[in-house]
Amino acid sequence: MSRVINFSAGPAALPLEVLQQAQAELTDWNGSGMSVMEVSHRGKEFIKVAETAEADLRELMQIPDDYSVLFLQGGATTHFALLPMNLAAPTQAVDYLLTGAWSKKASKEAAAVRKVNIVADGSASSYMDVPARSGWKLDPAAAYVHYCVNETISGLEMHDVPDVGSVPLVADMSSTILSRPVDVRKFGVIYAGAQKNIGPSGLVILIVRKDLLERAPAGLPAILKYSAHAAADSMLNTPPTFSWYIAGLVFAWLKRQGGLQKMAEVNKRKADMLYKAIDASSFYNNPVAGAHRSWMNVTFTLADPALDADFLSESKKAGLTNLKGHRDVGGMRASIYNAVPEAGVAALVQFMADFEKRRG
Ligand SMILES: *Cc1c(COP(=O)(O)O)cnc(C)c1O
Repeated sequence: MSRVINFSAGPAALPLEVLQQAQAELTDWNGSGMSVMEVSHRGKEFIKVAETAEADLRELMQIPDDYSVLFLQGGATTHFALLPMNLAAPTQAVDYLLTGAWSKKASKEAAAVRKVNIVADGSASSYMDVPARSGWKLDPAAAYVHYCVNETISGLEMHDVPDVGSVPLVADMSSTILSRPVDVRKFGVIYAGAQKNIGPSGLVILIVRKDLLERAPAGLPAILKYSAHAAADSMLNTPPTFSWYIAGLVFAWLKRQGGLQKMAEVNKRKADMLYKAIDASSFYNNPVAGAHRSWMNVTFTLADPALDADFLSESKKAGLTNLKGHRDVGGMRASIYNAVPEAGVAALVQFMADFEKRRG
């Protein structure tokens, strides 16, 4: 068996132990003579999987009891539209901070259903920096303030939770959830597509303060309404059972690793190793403002873009895959989520030094 080091931005690497466990129990899960994909989501065996996954996530993130944890579908993108529909009255404005591609997409979807106030826009720095907090134009009457904690495409992360006063903070954590501890209390809503740092695609996790569930306007169809999903324990209709099961295996794996404090230490070391190598070289460059460099998605360019194709083909031959940057920004991107081991990042750093020596 040969496994590569997978630097994909998403769907992304999963822990080998999780894949092996899923493989071992694939055709006869729990002594049922069936796979987990073939059983009813309402049966007691699957309910146990669902409840254990939620309990483990609550423990890992220390989610307070006055927050609901929902296991939903539609990708993070669907929730770009559902969040304003659920949290804002039809005439109420919503605040959006623009720090890159994903927060811009979120604001565009919100603008289709509500009045959007742009708090600040990082376009002046080409989204390589976050606009200074002192210049933000928050609307005190806004239903919420939305931001993207980690812009997966550019590799820009907001390491500190912004203070937005009493207006609920809504955070797209798709590419940074579970990479470190967060104080859930500082947020009204945390949501994340699973395929970056949780599990397979098809699942979205949404952590919402319970009082906010009451805001949905009358007339919103139940299937679009978070309060209806919460009342049905995320089983209003058939949930993505296999993705939920794998996410549960990942949560158990994270607990075995020592939890999020431990992951934060490992993730910081991985990111530091890579940025240090980039900064020490005049051949590689990362354009993101120092204070906002992502721990999860490390972007870099080569001094000569004509070498990009060789860098990609040679790294792939060395077992280091999916390093091509997003099509909108070019260059390279190493996504180093929880499942990418420290040794994998060390192998990349070694390859980069070797490539520079030969071709730089
Ligand atoms: C990938 C990503 C999304 C979109 O996720 P989908 O599940 O494809 O809808 C949204 N926000 C961020 C930060 C992402 O990384």
